[in-house]
Amino acid sequence: MRTSDLFGARRCFGVASDDGWRAKQARNIRALREQHGLDVTVHDYVGARLTAYVNDGRWIADCSCGAGVVLDLGFAIGRCLECGAVYDVEKHVALPATWKAIERALVKRPQPANRNWQAPETVADLQRENREHGIKDEDES
Ligand SMILES: [Zn+2]
Repeated sequence: MRTSDLFGARRCFGVASDDGWRAKQARNIRALREQHGLDVTVHDYVGARLTAYVNDGRWIADCSCGAGVVLDLGFAIGRCLECGAVYDVEKHVALPATWKAIERALVKRPQPANRNWQAPETVADLQRENREHGIKDEDES
């Protein structure tokens, strides 16, 4: 299991486990059906691999429906709360090889709103931005 320093489903949605995450998605999809009459169901995602990025301190992948899926790297499964897609994170989401170093650079930023990354930015780019804003990076020599 990956241990992420960024916010994931646990923190964003208050779910403590994949079971809790599954229940949260089921409640959302049921509400969309019953209260808004939307034709959505929980379903396994089939399609191209999604590319992860960091927005406001959260790993996100854009679902095929257009919604941002908050990834919790501690959970093997990603869940879209808008269309019901269920992602096998390992199989369906491309994380950068440097994801841990990206997180290390981003968590030095005090405001989560400033923790953003997307390809093709490099770890060196993030470290340079940190220095430009007076944030020390002890990983650098
Ligand atoms: Zn979706």
